[in-house]
Amino acid sequence: MGKYLLAIDQGTSSSRAVVYDHDTSVVASAQQEFPQIYPQPGWVEHDPEAIWASVSAVTKDAMSSAGAGPADVTAIGITNQRETTLIWDRDTGQCIYNAIVWQDRRTADYCRELKKDGLETLIASKTGLRLDPYFSASKIAWILDNVDGARRSAEAGRLAFGTIDCFLLWRLSGGAQHATDATNASRTMLFNIHTQQWDDELLEAFNVPRVLLPEVKDSAAEFGVTRDSFCGGAIPILGIAGDQQAALIGQAGLETGMTKSTYGTGCFVIANTGSKALVSKQQLLTTVAMRLDGDVTYGLEGSVFVAGSAMQWLRDELGIIESAPESEAMAVRTGVVEDVVVVPAFTGLGAPYWDPDARGAILGLTRGSGRDQIVTATLQSVAYQTRDLIDAMADDGLSPSVIRVDGGMVSNDWFLQFLADVLDIAVERPVNVESTVLGAAYLAAFKAGVLQNSGQISEYWQCESRYEPQMPAEQRERLLQAWKEAVSRVRSNG
Ligand code: ADP
Repeated sequence: MGKYLLAIDQGTSSSRAVVYDHDTSVVASAQQEFPQIYPQPGWVEHDPEAIWASVSAVTKDAMSSAGAGPADVTAIGITNQRETTLIWDRDTGQCIYNAIVWQDRRTADYCRELKKDGLETLIASKTGLRLDPYFSASKIAWILDNVDGARRSAEAGRLAFGTIDCFLLWRLSGGAQHATDATNASRTMLFNIHTQQWDDELLEAFNVPRVLLPEVKDSAAEFGVTRDSFCGGAIPILGIAGDQQAALIGQAGLETGMTKSTYGTGCFVIANTGSKALVSKQQLLTTVAMRLDGDVTYGLEGSVFVAGSAMQWLRDELGIIESAPESEAMAVRTGVVEDVVVVPAFTGLGAPYWDPDARGAILGLTRGSGRDQIVTATLQSVAYQTRDLIDAMADDGLSPSVIRVDGGMVSNDWFLQFLADVLDIAVERPVNVESTVLGAAYLAAFKAGVLQNSGQISEYWQCESRYEPQMPAEQRERLLQAWKEAVSRVRSNG
């Protein structure tokens, strides 16, 4: 056994690798961005070779900064942007099309057709998902229908499908492994989350041949070893989970009822619902939160498309801040803003509205409204959107008493206090806010026996700051009322 763990986080805009000690303190890390490809409005692709090159580079960088050779690394854990779809040739390992990214909307019409055929209920009951281009199934169908000869090759068993984790595993193992984990499989829309099997009825609905699909394993499992040419030796790959599920694990959200909210580009809330696949009446998603030793833990998930990226909009499009952290000083200066409401529905509204045609707005401007108010109101909008998700979860019977937060935006103390005030729930920020990549390391550590049981993860979790709700109830009600009114003004389907 070596002395380190290596976690790879292949995200939407960058790839990272972190080398941890066995007690999960960070020894070295490296990060690299890669290009986004926008071939047409609404289409988003990644070059698979750019993804692979960035993962190879950051892994080598992190290992060399740690002074680690392959024998020093006990195990690798992988976490990844979810749903993004790749199909490659089993002989050459070359992809037959770019990766179609989760944000890509090219299959919206196709999904609308399937809805007309009445497939929505079937899909929800088997996968816990909504019939939406977001998930992998319609992206696979698009590649098979639009790349010359792809369908014929797929049927002949010459091609392989995978989400990013699966593609990386294939490459890391030199083509020896075609496998994924249950959390990633649960986002394809082809996986029955109750039976934990690929589903023939769904494969037929999307016209996807079964031979294309990987084996589905636990999130902590023997996924094979790296080929020697990757980093000079065989390192076992022992953990895989999609990024939001990995964040829940990194936040030690292992008990039923525990809830985490991640604030990066978007915001993703997942509540652990234990062995129960809770079906939402509020248009939230039911998903596999983790599968350990064959036991499935389910989660209820809500997503907001625009969170930290609203800060980027203020910086890059409006030019009223120079950097995201500057927003905090402005909010401190101006205090809670009551008259101006920003609705950052730039790409529609996610859960619980699911309104792709809604668009953003700034409401309530007066002659005295300035930069500070607009920036503060934008921060506030992220908290209101979280409140909408938490309200939807409450209607589904889940009422967390505390929320654990992570992601780039949570360095903003003012935002976290306002979040606690608006949610009327305590908010906790851990010492280590890099929960996603840490979750991948925990999975590998667990399978390697570095952690004796998953409960030990809870012992590692440390609270850095806790924010208690302090706002008077009347003020909270006033703010939420103004938010609701603003949302109703921008909705297309309200
Ligand atoms: P991702 O993993 O989605 O790329 P990160 O978790 O790295 O995102 O978070 C980056 C996001 O956090 C950016 O959108 C940025 O605008 C936002 N952000 C970073 N620092 C702050 C801050 N102090 N206040 C508000 N937003 C912030």
